[in-house]
Amino acid sequence: MPEAPLTVPTTGVETEHFDVLIVGAGISGVGGAYHLTTQCPDKSFVILEKAETFGGTWWTHKYPGIRSDSDLHTFGYRFKPWTGTPIATAEEIRKYMGEVIEENGLDHHIRYRHRIDSARWSSAENRWAIVATNTETGEQRHFSCGFLWMAQGYYRHEQGYTPEWKGMERYKGVLVHPQTWPEDLDYTGKRVVVIGSGATAATVVPNMAGRAAHVTMLQRTPTYFRTGRNAIEIAEELRALGIDETWIHEITRRKILSEQAKFTERTFREPDKVREELIGNIRTLLGPDYDVETHFSPPYRPWRQRLAFVPDADLFKGIASGKASVVTDEIETFDETGIRLKSGKHLEADIIVTATGFDLCPLGDIAFEIDGTPLDFHQTVTYRGMMFTGVPNMVWVFGYFRASWTLRADLVGDFVCKLLKHMQATQQRKVTVALRPEDKDMPLLDWIDGENFNPGYMTRGMHLLPRRGDKPEWMHNQDYWAEKDEIPAIDLTGKEFVYS
Ligand SMILES: Cc1cc2nc3c(=O)[nH]c(=O)nc-3n(C[C@H](O)[C@H](O)[C@H](O)COP(=O)(O)OP(=O)(O)OC[C@H]3O[C@@H](n4cnc5c(N)ncnc54)[C@H](O)[C@@H]3O)c2cc1C
Repeated sequence: MPEAPLTVPTTGVETEHFDVLIVGAGISGVGGAYHLTTQCPDKSFVILEKAETFGGTWWTHKYPGIRSDSDLHTFGYRFKPWTGTPIATAEEIRKYMGEVIEENGLDHHIRYRHRIDSARWSSAENRWAIVATNTETGEQRHFSCGFLWMAQGYYRHEQGYTPEWKGMERYKGVLVHPQTWPEDLDYTGKRVVVIGSGATAATVVPNMAGRAAHVTMLQRTPTYFRTGRNAIEIAEELRALGIDETWIHEITRRKILSEQAKFTERTFREPDKVREELIGNIRTLLGPDYDVETHFSPPYRPWRQRLAFVPDADLFKGIASGKASVVTDEIETFDETGIRLKSGKHLEADIIVTATGFDLCPLGDIAFEIDGTPLDFHQTVTYRGMMFTGVPNMVWVFGYFRASWTLRADLVGDFVCKLLKHMQATQQRKVTVALRPEDKDMPLLDWIDGENFNPGYMTRGMHLLPRRGDKPEWMHNQDYWAEKDEIPAIDLTGKEFVYS
């Protein structure tokens, strides 16, 4: 039976203690709670979530058409079948997460409106002291835990990233970031300019195009897009044969993952051919007269940035119908009525949507201290993108970009549970990863190889992120197909794990 949380008065403040404290009730945190419940049922735990409900990314984002861009068979958990269409709306994803919470009795473990402000590790006590603020009452709450499971995502939820453009203060229309979408924004009959070319812009543009007078997607650099029916044939076939959903989920996941592996491998082996296929598809959708060279031919090889999937080619249907259009240019200045471009062209806009990305926030804006010393996260070296040198009893869930995030959240979940069980069996209370003597001269590199993957928010925030080495233990390789075998095989008695 799970140990009941203790209420221990330490240093005069009432502190609730848990074996494990999970930060955030997004897809990673809720998944973590499931893994703990099923794999470590004797551990007490709590999830602290600053928002008023669960969902994370899928609660924060409310822009028109908000949906996943990877399929839900792999973005969904491995333990709960996804039975809907592969590309899902935020509402559908939250419904699925809500079912996971309900079916596994996780709701009483979650404290909403609890923003964690600080986390202090004490080696004398072998525990973390956590201070959270109740966002409704402003009241401070104190917690302590033996292990900290960071599932806070990677970007600041309160605000998106908007570059500073000349003349912005002159603009008289409505300026909106998709991350803080005003739910009452009426864009009926309005001229809209969406700045950006990633998955968010590709979703917002066709979804606004029906009601707006016209939507212009203004991009500096084109993106690769894949299109297809919002369905997975094998899942449909198996369903028609009355196969159990658990089987359908597993078979469909394997099929999708095997196809993705082949595709990713091809983007490295024959990037030019893949590039031509992707661009050729857009050419077919938009017709021979459309300037695909200018608007849909990125200057980098496929997969260096997230490759967006456009279900049912809705973006391209919008463009072909004339309700939406693409302009590839640079912003010279904003003015009272819109945007003047470097080419001299002017875009008139009643509403400007800045789909310009995220504000990287590696540790959830939590002030960390280790034995009285503030943590400089950039000075740490990561153990396989999960743990960090000098930071005891802590794991961060950072998912995949080329594959679904949740595939890694599940793998990390197994790892944490295995680690907790190992520590219990060997009666250890503290674990830290540390470079071994043979790692002394290892070159220290950026968190993610910019040659391999370089979205803007990562490049902008690299100095906030831990570093990695060039040996498997110290790499953060973002390779599901390697890690699906490597993570379960981790030897917890290896020299890189230091216990006490
Ligand atoms: C619009 C959009 C679409 C995306 N689509 C996909 C996709 O299709 N496929 C894919 O693989 N990935 C996608 N991603 C990436 C996506 O963010 C992740 O896949 C995933 O949802 C992240 O889940 P998470 O639980 O790790 O973090 P988040 O969803 O960011 O959740 C973190 C939670 O932690 C809470 N939190 C943070 N700091 C604190 C604190 N100090 N105290 C208390 N609580 C805190 C937050 O409030 C939040 O609820 C998308 C991202 C965005 C923004």
